[in-house]
Amino acid sequence: MKILVINSGSSSLKYQLIDMDNESVLCKGLCERIGLVGSSVTHKAHGKEWKVQNTMPTHAEAFSKMLDLMTTGDGAVLQNKADIGAIGHRVVHGGEKFAASVIINDEVIKTIEELSPLAPLHNPPQVQGIRSAQKVFGMDVPQVAVFDTAFHQTMDPKAYIFAIPYEFYESHSIRRYGFHGTSHRYVAQRAAEFLGRDFNDFKVVTCHLGNGASMAAVLNGKSIDTTMGLTPLGGLMMGTRSGDLDPSVATYLADITGEYGANMSKLLNTKSGFLGVSGISSDNRDIEAAAAEGNERAQLVHDMYSYQIKKYIGAYAAAMNGLDCVVFTGGIGENSPSTRSDACQGMEFFGIEIDETLNLKRGEEVDFSTPDAKVRTLVIPTDEELMIARDTLELV
Ligand code: AMP
Repeated sequence: MKILVINSGSSSLKYQLIDMDNESVLCKGLCERIGLVGSSVTHKAHGKEWKVQNTMPTHAEAFSKMLDLMTTGDGAVLQNKADIGAIGHRVVHGGEKFAASVIINDEVIKTIEELSPLAPLHNPPQVQGIRSAQKVFGMDVPQVAVFDTAFHQTMDPKAYIFAIPYEFYESHSIRRYGFHGTSHRYVAQRAAEFLGRDFNDFKVVTCHLGNGASMAAVLNGKSIDTTMGLTPLGGLMMGTRSGDLDPSVATYLADITGEYGANMSKLLNTKSGFLGVSGISSDNRDIEAAAAEGNERAQLVHDMYSYQIKKYIGAYAAAMNGLDCVVFTGGIGENSPSTRSDACQGMEFFGIEIDETLNLKRGEEVDFSTPDAKVRTLVIPTDEELMIARDTLELV
C-alpha cells in the first residue's frame, strides 16, 4: 500500500509518499507560502528536484498541486490518486484524549479542534490539512492522526502534574504533555532493534536535538518522563526558545519590560535560547562556527546546551534505576559531534564512554561508545514520516 504522510502548518504543507511494501520513499515535497503571495511547491522524486511557483490560496489547492506533481510530468510516481491507499497526518496536540494514533472521523476532528487552545499554532492548520485532504481525496480514503503527545501519555502523574493549584489541572488540563513523541518512539524502538535488545526490557534516554529539542526517558517501551511540558517551550534551551526557567523569571521580566501575555510568550519562544544568549543566531552551525572563532557567548551557548543534556541523562538514569542506551537524533543530535561529546563527558562512572573517532560520523546510524562501555551511545537519524506511515498502515 502507498501511504501519503502529511504535516500541515499554517502556510505550509510537507508531504511524503511511502510505498509500504518496502518502506521506500517515492517522493516528497513542501508547499510553501500557502495563502500568501509567492507560493511554491518543491517536489523531489527519482533523485531530482523541481520548484514550481504556483498560486495556492488554500490548503486544498496545495493538495491539488501536490497531486498534479505526483501524477503528471517528470516527477510523477503514481498513475492517479486512487493509488494512494491511506493518508497519515501529523497532529501536534492530542491532549489526554489520544494515547495512540487513531482513524480520523468527525468526532476525532472535533476533539482535535477542541484541543486547539493547548496548541493554537499547530492544531488548527492540521485540522485544515485533514479537511482539505478529505475534499481532494474523498471520504473513501482512510485518514489517520498521529499525535506528537501520544507516546508520552504513559507518564505517571508524579511526572506530569505541575505543582500549582490542582484545580487548574482539572479545569484547564494544565500538565506536562511532552512532544516529539513520534520521533522518541521511532529512535527508541530502532535503538533496541539496532542493539538486538528486547524493547520491552530496555532503558533508554532519547535526545531529539533539533531547532526544537526534547529528551525522554523510555523504560521498557514506555515514555515515563520527558523534558517539554504543557507546550514545546519547556525543558532544554532551543534555537529560539528558553526552555526551563525559574518561573519567576517570566513574571520579573514582564515587570521590567512591560511585556505580558502574548508578548512575553513571544520573547520566550522566539527571542531566547541559542539566539537570545549568543546574540548571533538560532542555528547551531552558526553557533559552532562562532565559538570556533573565539566568540565567548557562542561558546557559552554550546556549554549550557551540552550541560543541560548531560543533567537530564543523569536525571533520567535515576528515574529508570539504570541506563542501557542514550540515543541522539534531530539536526544537532545527528550532526554535531561536539555536542554529543560534551554531553557525554565525565559520565564514566555511569558507564558512558565514547569513542571520539566513531563520534565524528554525521547523519548515519552509529554506535559511538567504546567496546567495553556499559551504556551504548548511538546516533539514530529520526524518521517521523515512516513512523506515521507505519501507524497508518497498522490502523487501516
Ligand atoms: P532540525 O530542526 O532537526 O532540522 O535541526 C536543525 C538544527 O540542526 C540547527 O540548529 C542546525 O544548525 C543543526 N545542524 C544541522 N546540521 C548540522 C551540522 N552539520 N553541524 C552542527 N549542527 C547542525
